[in-house]
Amino acid sequence: MSKKFYVTTSIAYVNARPHIGFAMELIQADVLARYHRMIGDDTFSLTGTDEHGMKLETAAKEQGLEPKQLVDMNAAYFKELKEVLNLSYDHFIRTTDDYHEKGAQKVWTLMNEQGDIYKDSYEGLYCIGCEAFVLEKDLVDGKCPNHNRVPEKLREENYFFKLSKYSDAIGKKIETGELKIFPESKKNEILYVIKDGLKDVSFSRPKKILKWGIDVPNDPDQVMYVWCDALSNYITGIGYGRDEEQFKRYWPADVHLIGKDILRFHSAIWIGMLMSAGIELPKAIYVHGFITSEGKKMSKSLNNVVDPNEYVDKYGADALRYFLLKEIPTVDDGDFSVERFKVVYGTELANNIGNLVSRVLAMTGKYFEGKVPEAVKSEDVLGPEVMKVWKEYQEAVNGFDLKKALEIVAAFASYANKFVDDTKPWVLAKENTQDLARVIYALLEMIRHLSLLLLPFLPATSAKISSYLGQATENLDFGKAILWGGLQFGQPVQKAEPLFARVEEPQK
Ligand SMILES: [Zn+2]
Repeated sequence: MSKKFYVTTSIAYVNARPHIGFAMELIQADVLARYHRMIGDDTFSLTGTDEHGMKLETAAKEQGLEPKQLVDMNAAYFKELKEVLNLSYDHFIRTTDDYHEKGAQKVWTLMNEQGDIYKDSYEGLYCIGCEAFVLEKDLVDGKCPNHNRVPEKLREENYFFKLSKYSDAIGKKIETGELKIFPESKKNEILYVIKDGLKDVSFSRPKKILKWGIDVPNDPDQVMYVWCDALSNYITGIGYGRDEEQFKRYWPADVHLIGKDILRFHSAIWIGMLMSAGIELPKAIYVHGFITSEGKKMSKSLNNVVDPNEYVDKYGADALRYFLLKEIPTVDDGDFSVERFKVVYGTELANNIGNLVSRVLAMTGKYFEGKVPEAVKSEDVLGPEVMKVWKEYQEAVNGFDLKKALEIVAAFASYANKFVDDTKPWVLAKENTQDLARVIYALLEMIRHLSLLLLPFLPATSAKISSYLGQATENLDFGKAILWGGLQFGQPVQKAEPLFARVEEPQK
């Protein structure tokens, strides 16, 4: 029976170009979406951009632009990633989209009707870099440690959200696993925060300070602060307040995928907002780590910022996808190293996967005129072996261990390479045609399975292998496709172009 699957990424703040960490998040979400489409689930994948706030208002002013002009320009860099990284999301939401603004106002109104939004004045130290009030105790030499600037004293009237009212209820949902926070360490981290009780949060800003935001319903002097503006995208993006049928079809989200720095916003504030507005809660929040560059935090001053475009231009989107998915732990921090990237490209992609596919297809051309040979299918041994691979692979993807899933795929490719070395088709070609047919059939079947295993991870590579074998990659009957022996005798196959070509390094 087909199920539905709805996955979201966080929305990127458009004050800078996309970085490799966000690229990884997009790719991880893409794997989940492609996987669920492959197994036949009714899937929706959402990403987008967060486009309001003080930083953008200020940056636009500095550049002599209207805020909308600036965000239009910057959002384009994020939209480009769909092609660059070969993503398959269904919708790209911008928080400046009209339907989103209306949806966010609807959420606000519902929360207000519950008596959960109240006006209060607040005096505190405000860091313009953080776009937030900061606490005296967090300052270093009187300055915000993140921005190295002295915060200003500010008194303003704000609306507040009574998050404290939902503190216990949120804690219970997380503790019981009704709302799954993954990995476990992040679940414990947020439970620790909630244990002391969540505080009410500032939910709006006065217009005399911030204009670039969504209007608070029924108060011309206030705009929404980031929470209701940004977090509501997860429901407005699938039709909340505009296409109720689609909203009901996909909500609640199966997975909100986020970085570890925004855990608290998602597992506390967003959950409280939904409780207040009487909207069902998401099922799970998956939290990935950060990427360092050559062992150091990426920064402009160290000149070690990894630009995803550079690697895609040179090695292709699949090579970058493979590296980020297999070399970086799925829910932990990892390192991006140029040397390691080259090694992985050469050994794991070009040799282990690329050569295997070329060899098998070349032998089919040479020994069987490019057609799948008629043979005994060796189901007894290889059938169960492949089923075991699929079982472990599916467990890894369902447990959000994408690194492990790719390790299983790489091990399967190694197994097939060893099968070539052990059976020596070039020797059989001189001695035993029946055995040769059996071996080549088995190898072709193995690369057919390899193409399916790769489909969510390396979609372009998977599509190439499938097309060489004359196999479809869309609208699969998944249950049937993963059985051993799917290739029909006599099916013509093509010779492969190198899947991962040698990359010439410029002479220094
Ligand atoms: Zn700051």
